[in-house]
Amino acid sequence: MLRRLWALASQRLKRPHLLVPSRTRHADTKIAVRRVAHSYEEGVEALKNVTLDIHHGEFVCLLGPSGCGKTTLLYALAGQVAPSGGHISIDGEEVKGPSPDRYLMFQEPALFPWMTVKQNLVFALKARHGKRKAEELATRYLHRVQLDGFERLLPHQLSAGMRMRVSLARALAMDPAVLLMDEPFGALDAQTRAHMHQLLQRVWMETKKTVVFVTHDVREALVLGDRVVVMAARPGRVLKDLEVRLEHPRDPDDERLVELSRHIRQMLERGAQSGANRPRDGADDGHGKGEERAPEARVPPGAAHPVGAGV
Ligand code: ADP
Ligand code: MG
Repeated sequence: MLRRLWALASQRLKRPHLLVPSRTRHADTKIAVRRVAHSYEEGVEALKNVTLDIHHGEFVCLLGPSGCGKTTLLYALAGQVAPSGGHISIDGEEVKGPSPDRYLMFQEPALFPWMTVKQNLVFALKARHGKRKAEELATRYLHRVQLDGFERLLPHQLSAGMRMRVSLARALAMDPAVLLMDEPFGALDAQTRAHMHQLLQRVWMETKKTVVFVTHDVREALVLGDRVVVMAARPGRVLKDLEVRLEHPRDPDDERLVELSRHIRQMLERGAQSGANRPRDGADDGHGKGEERAPEARVPPGAAHPVGAGV
């Protein structure tokens, strides 16, 4: 009995090595975010001093409470928001506007209601590939998201999860270098969401796309992310940049994952002094400094609802 308790306790002690500060690998940096700040005209300081390196083929989750600037940062990566300070470059080139190489996906699948599932894909693809190749790609990617046999249906004849799968198939078929996802599964029921998590993990393992995925759900971030970038609000900034060392595909009920999610939530609940949470103002700041041990982030005053709410 004692031995079992000891084994359990030492197992718990070993867990933090599954969550370590992320290391910058300059050689394969895909997206470099440098001291990015953004204030909206109304005077809201949405982002302050955000520095981040996203590597080729990485799945990075931006995690934070509502209003912490996740969407603003994602739009800045997409080139749809021009940040009021700092720089963003992709493959060494400054982001100056939208590009087909960066595909933005939202909660709303945004399908044409009068087009069939397949036509929705073909429409998006044919300008670049021509009709024949577009049809071939549509069939291939609908298969990838397990929608064989549904090609001729209209969006309203599908479930919400299936519509999201069409949207994902379209995004993948467009073959962008970077996939930017803004809480895409937020409107789905828990079961459909879990299914989407499995599907997205499988597709990501096959394609190794660079993905930046925004969420306020700790468990979702841990199921999907190679890295979890924890943000705080007012002004939006990076608190922690953590590497998740759990093999894919991940099971949301994996006891290690549940424990890591508790750890991150505690980190956010207990908070820390501003010194420990210093805004990251340099490319190497906070990277590679050993294990993530201390529960040390504070949910800032004014956060609309804490990270992890409803998880
Ligand atoms: P999140 O996606 O983390 O919820 P957002 O990036 O949407 O956060 O918003 C960050 C802050 O910027 C919030 O305080 C929000 O009210 C504000 N904001 C977002 N978009 C606009 C806008 N177009 N004009 C003015 N303020 C905005
Ligand atoms: Mg948002």
